Amino acid sequence: MIDLPPLSLDAATIETMSAEEVLSWAAEEFGTGLCLSCSWQKQSSVLAHMMRAVGIDIPVIELDTHLFFRETHQTRDRIVDRFRLTLIRPSVPTIADQHRIEGPNLWERDADRCCELRKVQPLTSALEPFDAWVSGLRRSQSPSRAGLRKVEYSEQFGLWKVHPLADWSDDDVWQYIAEHDIPYNPLHDVGYRSIGCIPCTRPTGPEEEERAGRWAGSDKLECGIHQE
Ligand code: SF4
Repeated sequence: MIDLPPLSLDAATIETMSAEEVLSWAAEEFGTGLCLSCSWQKQSSVLAHMMRAVGIDIPVIELDTHLFFRETHQTRDRIVDRFRLTLIRPSVPTIADQHRIEGPNLWERDADRCCELRKVQPLTSALEPFDAWVSGLRRSQSPSRAGLRKVEYSEQFGLWKVHPLADWSDDDVWQYIAEHDIPYNPLHDVGYRSIGCIPCTRPTGPEEEERAGRWAGSDKLECGIHQE
């Protein structure tokens, strides 16, 4: 058991706070040690807006695997432009290099290794200067996220993870986007309730879990950056 860096509020108190309160508290608590990661799904739309609404400006890590949908890149451009985001874009191996070193279409043979190379390693280096990291994870996205806390320590990355939307439902997200007229990824309108890399994402039916379209047909649930 490691000695965790102390926080000014206890976890139980943070759980009672609204998303805006959690975000404002984190900005105050961690200062320039705080960053946000965006994958340009609907939660990214909410957090980019909310960050501006509560008057904070933190760097945004974009983990572009070079395998995103065109619509995801277009959404990124619209959100960055609207909210004047400062992007950090960690270096990710080119697809050609990965094919050459690991063999073709690694995602079909060893998705964990592919995620390690294209997501986990680049994010680990991008997070190095930071003490805390905000992301848009929600408990209702999948059973693997049901136990999520609004603030929890990541031993994997050695920093605090902040989840202002942890207790939001899918409807809460859409209501916020509609209320504030925020740009969002149009793939959500055609059945993609969770969106990642092209080879590992398919649309889902309403009867399926929100993340059922990610690595469908395998027992993989997470890419490795949200394992704890
Ligand atoms: S989601 Fe698929 S394509 Fe993207 S990094 Fe992971 S295995 Fe590779």
